[in-house]
Amino acid sequence: MPEDRPMPNANLRVLLVAIEEVMGENGAKAVLNSGGLGRYIGNYPPNNTELGASFTDYGAAQQAVEDFYGPRGARAMLIRIGRATFRYTRQEQPAILGLAGLALKALPVGARMKSVLERITSAANKDVNLKAHLREEPDAYYYVNEECPCRWRPEHDKPACFVTVGVLQEAMLWATGKNYRVEEVACISNGASACVYRVPKQPIE
Ligand SMILES: [Zn+2]
Repeated sequence: MPEDRPMPNANLRVLLVAIEEVMGENGAKAVLNSGGLGRYIGNYPPNNTELGASFTDYGAAQQAVEDFYGPRGARAMLIRIGRATFRYTRQEQPAILGLAGLALKALPVGARMKSVLERITSAANKDVNLKAHLREEPDAYYYVNEECPCRWRPEHDKPACFVTVGVLQEAMLWATGKNYRVEEVACISNGASACVYRVPKQPIE
């Protein structure tokens, strides 16, 4: 395992709140216990951007949800948790998504997508201790994280970062009112040098 990497308290907090929303209080407790995170039961990290949480713990919480449902069932649950994570983050701590004060209404849909993705990318670098960048191609945006909690998870035979997929899906829905088929096309836990998320410019019909 690489040396641990700190992340803001609020990032882990909203993930745990989202897990509890999707799995219920007892499900969340079971996941925290099995993930070696029992110290967080009834004691979620504070809602601030101090670097008091860690990539290890964030990854362990995701891994425990995956283990709870099994690899086949976990994908849909992790995406739901990611969607809830975006909603809570936007309400509780929009700074870590870079969305504070963002006015979208005047923009066309394509510009809204790009604007939100750019904000998320810069907040990821500035506040979340990720190494993120955004690439645009004619048909899609690619959101790239060169660091990811999945570096502290076991190796996977397929991309595993479905929480982030859910976060990006919900972000695009919030920005445009439409659903997009976001995919993680490369993943550190699957041997790639970065986690790469493709966000197509065309919504699902
Ligand atoms: Zn990944």
